[in-house]
Amino acid sequence: MNYLKFEEMNLSPETLHAISDMGFEEATPIQSQSIEIIMSGRDVIGQSQTGTGKTAAFGIPLLEKINQYDKRLQAVILCPTRELAIQISEEFRKLLKYRENIKVIPIYGGQPIDRQIIALRKGAQVIIGTPGRVMDHMNRRTLKMETVQLVVLDEADEMLDMGFRDDIETILDKIPTNRQTMLFSATMPKEILELTHRYQKDPEHVMVVHKELTVPSIDQVYFEVKEKIKLDALCRLIDMDNPGLSLIFCNTKKLVDELVEQLQGRGYFAEGLHGDMKQSMRDLVMKKFRNRTIEILVATDVAARGIDVDDIDIVFNYDIPQDEEYYIHRVGRTGRAGKSGRAYTFVVGKEIYKLREIMKLTKAKIFLKKLPSLGDIEENKTRYFVDKIKSIMDEGHLTKYINIVESIITEDYSALDIAAALMKHNLYDADAEELDLDIEPADQSRGSGYRKKGSHDSTEENMARLFITIGKKEKVKPNDIVGAVAGETGIPGRVIGHIDIYEEFTFVDVPKEYVKDIINGMKNKKIKGKKINIERAKKK
Ligand code: ADP
Ligand code: MG
Repeated sequence: MNYLKFEEMNLSPETLHAISDMGFEEATPIQSQSIEIIMSGRDVIGQSQTGTGKTAAFGIPLLEKINQYDKRLQAVILCPTRELAIQISEEFRKLLKYRENIKVIPIYGGQPIDRQIIALRKGAQVIIGTPGRVMDHMNRRTLKMETVQLVVLDEADEMLDMGFRDDIETILDKIPTNRQTMLFSATMPKEILELTHRYQKDPEHVMVVHKELTVPSIDQVYFEVKEKIKLDALCRLIDMDNPGLSLIFCNTKKLVDELVEQLQGRGYFAEGLHGDMKQSMRDLVMKKFRNRTIEILVATDVAARGIDVDDIDIVFNYDIPQDEEYYIHRVGRTGRAGKSGRAYTFVVGKEIYKLREIMKLTKAKIFLKKLPSLGDIEENKTRYFVDKIKSIMDEGHLTKYINIVESIITEDYSALDIAAALMKHNLYDADAEELDLDIEPADQSRGSGYRKKGSHDSTEENMARLFITIGKKEKVKPNDIVGAVAGETGIPGRVIGHIDIYEEFTFVDVPKEYVKDIINGMKNKKIKGKKINIERAKKK
């Protein structure tokens, strides 16, 4: 795989500056392959796993093509959920940091339509929206598609799963055919190919192909953590394992700098290594790492490529790598020259799907482990300390200290008391706090859902039944229900379970954890033009 530098891509200085501020050092594989093709004006079908940087893969070239002097609508991005619409518009705003004359607005169900109408009236060159709401605005003529030149269908597979196909087709039919159309998706089922045949012109199919990869035999584990306890978790693992040298990987330069500062703040001997540093500075850091003046090196993938240190004990994937090749490169930094090594990976929420993908593609066995508790660390420290004391006693030459102890011993303090107090002084950590390790359910972190169809844990005890006042009389179909729930609440369509439609009402099974959000999000909303009521179904 060729990872291109953004500088090699013929982008404007403003965009390059913004990308650099975002801390991206080089393009991910899907970005390396699609950005220039999109720049050249061709239609693209882009396929790669979740978390591989597809947003910037279409966002960078799309925004480069927007004419800032033309205030009319130029680009439409359709995506399955409100969360995603917001996320994409945030990423776009970062990319537009140095191009202030381009206006981007997300429009999605669940937000008052009047507010969106006002925002649209002020003019936007780029909108990012869920299909239902975009169609709504199209019908009201608050969105005029005649001037649109660029269209992106993001997470196309997910949109189809959620029943948005008709809406998507209606929208695409309204956009002039001399447009450029991009479609991005993690999977390419037949239905998507049908869409591309109908709506794209001779599209280039860009796919991230996976090499045969194997990981050397090192201990690989992962920890499920919440974002906000990552730093504590890292410190705890370092304290527990007491490694000689560790190498910690972050996905961006910015994150490297932040983590280094936090670790130094906590008293660790840590330094960072990334592409923005001068060569002389990098050499200095590496020298310190090699002679163990620093024990923790925090690096980006690019910077770490040049590292030739043989006795790294632990590699931490503080951020899960964007690509399985990165994983291999990273963990390959430990366990070298016949030594044993360990690789620890932090997984936050939906990143578990990325980890599974890495395991599948690299055939690596990565085991889930629990973070050590304070008790575990204390036990370990105690063992280490006691061993140390024993070896000091074995060495002898203690006369000076025996004299001191003797001078303290009185009726009140026995030798045992004194030894115990010394232990406490060495081992007790008043600042230690137990971490809050409760993990949020993976799917809640982002609305787009990454489970394969049918894999949601929909055992009866996890599901709750909702009652909705719409039914066959209104010609409602399961897709309408799924689409409405997903569109109004941002909850991934595929987690919705069984749907029973009766003449005047419908029952739908949903995971219990979503009940509150769904009821709040759907109350008084319309399905097929009818205002509905929704509540938890009474027990049979
Ligand atoms: P996808 O759409 O493929 O699931 P995203 O576009 O949401 O992936 O990107 C996942 C994460 O990777 C985001 O946090 C994004 O900011 C980050 N990212 C994207 N491109 C790069 C890059 N070239 N270098 C570092 N991080 C990147
Ligand atoms: Mg995406």
